[in-house]
Amino acid sequence: MKTCFTFLVLASLAVLTSSYKEVKKPSAIAKELYFPVAGNQSNVGSVWGDEREGGRRKHEGIDIFAAKGTPVVAISDGVIEYTGNDDIGGKTITLQPDDYEWEAYYAHLDVQYVSNGQRVKKGQLLGTVGNTGNARTTPAHLHFGIYTDNGAVDPLPYVKTSPKITSPVSADKTQTTSRSQKPSSTKSTGTVNKQIEKEVKSAAVKIVTGELLRRIKIRL
Ligand SMILES: [Zn+2]
Repeated sequence: MKTCFTFLVLASLAVLTSSYKEVKKPSAIAKELYFPVAGNQSNVGSVWGDEREGGRRKHEGIDIFAAKGTPVVAISDGVIEYTGNDDIGGKTITLQPDDYEWEAYYAHLDVQYVSNGQRVKKGQLLGTVGNTGNARTTPAHLHFGIYTDNGAVDPLPYVKTSPKITSPVSADKTQTTSRSQKPSSTKSTGTVNKQIEKEVKSAAVKIVTGELLRRIKIRL
């Protein structure tokens, strides 16, 4: 009887543990993330579902307004899946967090400090707030989105209660090596910029028929 009881307890625990990840609410996840814009001078000015293009489409993210040049940080540990520059999002970054299935999307950046395949840690500087892309005529802001396999979801609950950090945490030198294992620290800024430009160009060609371009078009 005792053995049977122990078995039941263990089985219940196993069920609870396996379903834990799926039932985790965004509000619980928020406590594990950092707010994407550093400092306390940022405000969410436009939320999920706001009308765009005279009602022809809905806003699939949130707009976080802050002074141009304000640091934008990694909300979690992860890998930079994509960096780009297009007419709509301007300078963009897509971060694949280590612990979640969804991707975080950052747009309208003034400067990007990371490149494709780079590993980043939570709070690390990714770029700065700007108004590139179709935000050229608006005040500087970060368009922030969360994309699941089923498309965009409202990102606000994920970051609403996340701590805002005062300044970016420094990159862990042992973790910043890109997938290609090239030692970027030995390159001059000019070389790095050229390298990023090259990566953006090749990525742009790659995404023309791909999933990423389709997703970029429905964003912002
Ligand atoms: Zn937006």
